[in-house]
Amino acid sequence: MKGQEQSDYGHETHAVRGGRVPTAEGEHSEPIFLTSSFVFQSAAQAAARFAGEQPGNIYSRFTNPTVRAFETRLAAMEEGERCIATASGMSAILSVCLGLLKSGDHIVASRSVFGTTMVLFDNILSRLGVRTTWVDLTDYAAWQAAITPATRLLFLETPSNPLSRVADIGRLAKLASSRDCLLVVDNCFCTSALQKPLRYGAHLVIHSATKYLDGQGRCIGGAVVGPESLLGEAIFPFLRAAGPSMSPFNAWVFLKGLETLEIRMRAHCEQAQRLAEWLRDKEQVEQVHYPGLQDHPEHALAKRQQTGFGGIVSFVVRGGQDAAWRVIDATRVFSITANLGDTRSTITHPATTTHHRLSDAQREAAGIVPGLIRLSAGMETLDDLITDLERGLGTP
Ligand SMILES: *Cc1c(COP(=O)(O)O)cnc(C)c1O
Repeated sequence: MKGQEQSDYGHETHAVRGGRVPTAEGEHSEPIFLTSSFVFQSAAQAAARFAGEQPGNIYSRFTNPTVRAFETRLAAMEEGERCIATASGMSAILSVCLGLLKSGDHIVASRSVFGTTMVLFDNILSRLGVRTTWVDLTDYAAWQAAITPATRLLFLETPSNPLSRVADIGRLAKLASSRDCLLVVDNCFCTSALQKPLRYGAHLVIHSATKYLDGQGRCIGGAVVGPESLLGEAIFPFLRAAGPSMSPFNAWVFLKGLETLEIRMRAHCEQAQRLAEWLRDKEQVEQVHYPGLQDHPEHALAKRQQTGFGGIVSFVVRGGQDAAWRVIDATRVFSITANLGDTRSTITHPATTTHHRLSDAQREAAGIVPGLIRLSAGMETLDDLITDLERGLGTP
């Protein structure tokens, strides 16, 4: 770690120490390089940098030392060759698509992905001649049937939002490789602390650093992790030219976030498990969706593929939307917000917020029923969260 990376260190060691390049000042914590450009020692050196003949910084849209520290650390944590940081999770997805695809190409994507990803694929990429076919996350026959000779990417999130369905990454990675496609996994819900998609054969991993990587709701950022062959030749040139680069200040905040990621994810998982078990036993709760419960349809797969079940729990209350809104409005500790992955617990009504754009039939098919509530388990005292939920569930 003193100067160079050692790949055989454990996840926690990478999280705390990865990517550090100390300066001559002897600082212990990483400095923030808030500079838009870099100076050269001579005209010849400038020319060599611009020609790509000499490595080194030119301009912070291309590279920046603080951003590179974050990239190096996250690449080590995901066990990827390289990481490219982006201005947001959405620009990470955009950089993958515009870096790798051209007009006429085709994407097969899980229907249960982040709402804005659906908007990006359906409303924006479609205008550039890139078509998307949507399939059920766990319907492997549907994935297979949807692939055409034009398909370049298979795209998914696992566990899914908000029902926490879990897909077999290895199985879909094999399918992708056998059909000359790339499997892209948005690893936002688990993070590298709980799931390493590249280990199972995924080709690229996406992060919204905005969520658990920061973990305290401060900054917007994203990342793509994968092999140099894809990142160096296709995705970095897009980023460098189009400009959705990560700010060095945000990179520094995320570096601090990564240092506590492992321990925070364990705490989120434990809190979510306890909330899920408490909800399961409530008379007024019809169903609880959490991969850590024995009766979850992919409990065994989640146990094999993940080292924890995650911090997101959703449940259905009896009485539909009125009952769900009553529970949400009765809370005093939970924040009513669609954000997730924060130290503070959040509560959302998916049918009228994150999934309001869908038609009633689409929502029904996706399992987003009117009584569904999604929680992101934070780090408050468990009893306070339970008292909060009890208040709304107890009201007749
Ligand atoms: C939030 C989110 C995104 C988008 O990330 P931003 O940082 O908000 O752009 C992408 N995927 C998932 C799963 C998310 O939760």
